[in-house]
Amino acid sequence: MPHTSRHPAEGRIRAVVLALALAGATACAINPVSGKRQVSLLSEAEELAIGQQQDAEIRREMGVYDDPDLQRYVNEIGHELARRSHRPNLPWSFTIVDSPAINAFALPGGYIYLTRGLMAYLDDESELAGVIGHEIGHVTARHAAQAYTRQAQANIGLTILSIFVPSTAPFTDLGATGLSVLFLKHGREQELEADRLGVEYGSGAGYDPAGVPRFLTTLARVSALSERGVPNWLSTHPDPGSRVAKAEPVAGKFVSDEAKRVNRDQYLDRIRGLLYGDSPKDGIVRGSEFLHPLLRIGVTFPEGWELTNTPQAVMAQEPGTEHFMVLQEVEQPATLRGQQTRSIGDVAVAAMRRAGYRVVDGSMQRINGNDAHVGVYRGEAKGTGKVLMRAAHIAIGRQLYVVAGFAPEPAFAGVDREIKPAVETFRHLTAQEASRIQPNRIDFYTVRQGDSWQSIAARQGKGYVKATTLAIMNDRDVSTQPAPGDRVKIVVAG
Ligand SMILES: [Zn+2]
Repeated sequence: MPHTSRHPAEGRIRAVVLALALAGATACAINPVSGKRQVSLLSEAEELAIGQQQDAEIRREMGVYDDPDLQRYVNEIGHELARRSHRPNLPWSFTIVDSPAINAFALPGGYIYLTRGLMAYLDDESELAGVIGHEIGHVTARHAAQAYTRQAQANIGLTILSIFVPSTAPFTDLGATGLSVLFLKHGREQELEADRLGVEYGSGAGYDPAGVPRFLTTLARVSALSERGVPNWLSTHPDPGSRVAKAEPVAGKFVSDEAKRVNRDQYLDRIRGLLYGDSPKDGIVRGSEFLHPLLRIGVTFPEGWELTNTPQAVMAQEPGTEHFMVLQEVEQPATLRGQQTRSIGDVAVAAMRRAGYRVVDGSMQRINGNDAHVGVYRGEAKGTGKVLMRAAHIAIGRQLYVVAGFAPEPAFAGVDREIKPAVETFRHLTAQEASRIQPNRIDFYTVRQGDSWQSIAARQGKGYVKATTLAIMNDRDVSTQPAPGDRVKIVVAG
């Protein structure tokens, strides 16, 4: 859940593609990697124009991670690799974006992004070089440019995918986001080609080529774990397991005396204090609680439900069921803002009707001292079918929030015994409570005799990080315990 509301850029992106399609200038360009001629709608100048425009969008939507030293470090390694690539003269840039997801992506024209979530899972510089090299490979082999071409030729515009759209999402505007470019999927062959180029560029700059298969192994472990439905490198880069098998022999070919740099300690020293998980500006999940220090709101979801915090909403799901809760800001049409005559009830019913929900029952109430309209609604949730929903629309100042829970009609009465009290936990935090909410950060720990991933995770307390995740962050499977004296990453508060 963001601090400020966003403006979907769908229109602008479509406009670019349309303009290119209308220009009709199907150019033929030489692919810099293969050396073959290739039909492409994009000239290098067009690649740069699209990259530049989308770069501004990404910086605005995701935000740049606030650590100039770390940014400079990644940028230096990136340029070292790009200089040795097939397109050394592009205006390359390398940016860490402020997202907890594990992702890396590239725009046409040489714009490369790594998320801070990915930085926490990398374990040394050779893995970092491998990921950067892979993304450089997508640009030098013109994969992104080709993806644009395919989409434009199919005349479907760019598919707008949201950061996280559960199939059961009851609110239509959950799907609106401008970040379509991130989720352009590359084909399997293109992924393997990028892996190969990642090995080539990384080892060219002196890095141990084994970093590539090693980090693909980490991704395969994350994939097997798939704790949360947050899209990351896995959804845009499918099947990491089989890529390990393909990348290992390639890496073997590039092993040389010149390509030996791993630089684990150097890398770890750079990421000390790295923000891990939710950022305070998006609100923080702690167990079954969601706290937003800037909006100063808090909700306690039912015990045991799994929470997912996305830029559009906070979702909670009872594991293995179709029982959901959602918390989000309500977009109020500009014409309604400041109109004293519209009651919260009117706004609530109108918003629910726009989402396809009819009122069964509703009344004005106070929830922890705030004006609220609490209603029960009937409607259809994509993927779940007919559902009943309890939704409270709650006003804090000029802002309106909705906290709702829903389940298939026959199950609703039973589930509502958990939903109703959870809805009623919605509260406005005091300034003091808000100031105590601290994000999680990466720190280090030297393993002692008798320690295990389980005992190290348990020391941090509930709601931080699971033993399995801790092991994966440290390049191991949870069944392989760390040895005394090992320096391992841990997650701490503050
Ligand atoms: Zn890729």
